[in-house]
Amino acid sequence: MTPFAKGRLTLRVIPATIPSATPYCGQSGLEGSVMGDASYASKGLRVVLLGTGTPNAEPDRSGPSVAIVVGDASYLVDCGPGVVRRATAAQAVGIEALEPKKLTRLFLTHLHSDHTAGYPDLILTPWVLDREEPLEVYGPTGTQAMTEHILAAYSEDIRDRLSGLEPIEAGGYLAQAHEIKSGVVYEDDQVTVEAFPVVHGSLPSFGYKFRAPDRIIVISGDTAPTETVVKAVRGCDVLIHEVYSSSRFELLPPAWRRYHSKMHTSTRDLAEIAAEARPGLVILYHQLSWGATEEELLAEIRDRYDGHVVSGQDLDVY
Ligand SMILES: [Zn+2]
Ligand SMILES: [Zn+2]
Repeated sequence: MTPFAKGRLTLRVIPATIPSATPYCGQSGLEGSVMGDASYASKGLRVVLLGTGTPNAEPDRSGPSVAIVVGDASYLVDCGPGVVRRATAAQAVGIEALEPKKLTRLFLTHLHSDHTAGYPDLILTPWVLDREEPLEVYGPTGTQAMTEHILAAYSEDIRDRLSGLEPIEAGGYLAQAHEIKSGVVYEDDQVTVEAFPVVHGSLPSFGYKFRAPDRIIVISGDTAPTETVVKAVRGCDVLIHEVYSSSRFELLPPAWRRYHSKMHTSTRDLAEIAAEARPGLVILYHQLSWGATEEELLAEIRDRYDGHVVSGQDLDVY
């Protein structure tokens, strides 16, 4: 297994435009980095990797969740286990938009448990921490039913908090589910969010493209290699893409090779996607490494792709 970095829960800030994986401020903290800069909020769109994990319960990788942050607004993509605590860790070092009570928008790529096990957390924890508005949730068919079932499962908690002594807002626990189709699914003064279909077995699954005046970000979600990603990525600044190790894949039992080759994207495939679409930066997340180191994963891609690519870690900021 991959050795886990010991206790690294600080942010490392990495400028997307510098052709290097060298962290902007080192891995030891934020002193002197942009995050310590009071003008951070005015710096345009930023990506915060809240969780880069998979169904494997790696201590240093929370379940998949990416936060797009623009000023004081946040837009979360997926909510794997640990999402609210990772958001709080980011807030603690200066990203105020990720204060729990400000987590009001969620975009789900698909309904696999590794991407949604934090959904009750995201509905309920920020409510206890002063969120006054409902969570607005955009996701595939099934999102409405999942939302209703979570609220039903926690009905005793909700009833008790509303009827007891807690000074708590009545509407803050609600979640408004919007089941989406491909195309523009959300728009406000800061961002436009477009969903595009990806290939992930029988589950309806989407990738998302965020457009802000200064940057365009594409998030793959879970997917086998597909032309829709290539199309979405052309002209974008940052592609955040899931990946598995092509070399370690060869060591898997045949049944798992069959599964992963139909459901996910190898380093080899991703190198081809990147070479065709040429994003400004590729960030690996949801890494299925099966014991390969991050350097090995990156080397597998750099073998076939000469653009900028980094391996994301929880709480990286780009
Ligand atoms: Zn997944
Ligand atoms: Zn999945």
